[in-house]
Amino acid sequence: MNPWRDRYCGELRAEDEGTRVMVAGWAARRRDHGGLIFIDLRDHSGVIQLVVNPERTRDAAKTAHDVRTEFVLRARGEIVRRAAEAVNPNIPTGDVEIQVDELDIVSRSEPLPFQLDDDNVDEPLRLRYRYLDLRRERMQRNFRLSHTVIAAIRRSMDEQGFVDIWTPSLTLGTPEGARDFLVPVRLQPGRFFALAQSPQLFKQLFMIGGFERYYQIATCWRDEDLRADRQFEFRQLDLELAFPTRDEVIDVMERVVVASFQSLGRDAPTRPLPRMAYADALLRYGTDKPDVRYGLEIQDATEVTRGSQFGVFANADAVRFLVAPRAFSRAELARLEAVAKEWGGKGLAYVVYDEAGEVRSPIAKFLSEDELAAFSSAPDSTVLFAADTPAMAARVLGGLRVQLAEELELIDDSRDELLWVVDFPLFQNDEDSGEWTFVHHPFTAPLEDHEDLIETDPARALSQHYDLIWNGWEQGSGSIRIHRQDVQQRVFSAMGMSDEEARSKFGWFLDALQMGAPPHGGFALGIERFLALLAGEDTIREVIPFPKTASGSDPLTGAPSEISGPVLQELGVATRKPRPAAPKER
Ligand code: ASP
Repeated sequence: MNPWRDRYCGELRAEDEGTRVMVAGWAARRRDHGGLIFIDLRDHSGVIQLVVNPERTRDAAKTAHDVRTEFVLRARGEIVRRAAEAVNPNIPTGDVEIQVDELDIVSRSEPLPFQLDDDNVDEPLRLRYRYLDLRRERMQRNFRLSHTVIAAIRRSMDEQGFVDIWTPSLTLGTPEGARDFLVPVRLQPGRFFALAQSPQLFKQLFMIGGFERYYQIATCWRDEDLRADRQFEFRQLDLELAFPTRDEVIDVMERVVVASFQSLGRDAPTRPLPRMAYADALLRYGTDKPDVRYGLEIQDATEVTRGSQFGVFANADAVRFLVAPRAFSRAELARLEAVAKEWGGKGLAYVVYDEAGEVRSPIAKFLSEDELAAFSSAPDSTVLFAADTPAMAARVLGGLRVQLAEELELIDDSRDELLWVVDFPLFQNDEDSGEWTFVHHPFTAPLEDHEDLIETDPARALSQHYDLIWNGWEQGSGSIRIHRQDVQQRVFSAMGMSDEEARSKFGWFLDALQMGAPPHGGFALGIERFLALLAGEDTIREVIPFPKTASGSDPLTGAPSEISGPVLQELGVATRKPRPAAPKER
């Protein structure tokens, strides 16, 4: 027999009337009504009302006087039906209560640093006392939801024939676009492991190793600035298939997505999910993570402004615009211009159509009839322009689009829009070095007929890389990989890596590609981003039990900590202060 309880608080119902039970949990609330004391007792299953009546039991009534919020209690008593006027229809146990015969304080609690039913507690305080925060309904809901979804993901992967295999955390740095976390090695002072940014090359080795369908819910570490959708450590549903087509990988993922929605009893998105080419996403939404829950699409006016009298238009590589459904005032336009500049724009040209449909714009006098006709828009709207390089025009209008959608409340929160972005470029120009670098990672295969472009026209080479987007959040990425050593080497060399450098960094992997590497490809879904959206949360911190703050520290344990001289010496590491300033939080 369990010494603490024989029933859970949340499961007691009218049918249990007359039963004697023992329950245990936390005192969520205590009300003293002169004679009677009411205690809401909470365990993981829910809440039951205890009634302590001094006429029934003097001892329990005495104990009940000492009880404070969040004390841990054990109670024995009888289930009785509540009087009609005392029924609480808001909780599942609201028809009944326990008339207490025995009450014990199992564990006491200091007054809490915040009330568990206060929704406005500062995040650092919540994280400092995360174990209390975890008792709150929202956290209980989020982590139980997380469990349900992860169980569904595992079931789906199992049903689809994937084998769960582990990969090392301590490894050699692989290029995934972030900095590595480094781990010194006592047995080899002065040398470092990198914590895996992802299992990328290991999962490719599983394909070469003949497993054909691998998956793992893998922890990944990336030393990046922390934001709403980024933490130093996070999990991925990481998977890889041998002999796949892109459509097969996408189909595997779509099944996982549908199973996850269904596990929560939610309507799943219809398969197949829509697909959009990267170039199209950039042109119409100014980003490779388009939120298509609202319109506000970007339009191109480069052709029509070629001979414009307005020099800014005539001289720009690209002229694009979007139409906001509102006639902005000068002050609003000045603010939007500042936003455009934050995104890297030089300014913000505009044409306002007032309520009567009259044009208000400092540039209108320079625009031809054809131009004005091309931008012509409904009364009470504003056409906002970006005239710049194509990439900058996309960036500025993409940024404005998101901001305007929020400000003008154009987003329909009840919608879930998932889609694939496909046909990414293979390379992008690195702003710092001016060299070609990878867009996804250097193991991504070019489109089959774009292989020759690796050398002849890297800017135009498209890859077999695909991203899953949900309401403007990137949920994950994947690609068909390069499985031929010569192609891999050509990609390295297009990125400015000499053969010697490629061999010294990736020789072990290039060797593997020469020993019967099958065609392969895969995907990685960011588990926390996926869970955050399923839970309706704005940041992944709400679905991570013990997250770090924006400055990269853990308010609960105080980590990271300084390490003493002798320990460092043993590791062959010397430290130097000061440290860089902490980044700002979104
Ligand atoms: N390793 C990649 C990433 O973490 C995912 C993949 O290509 O499968 O984004």
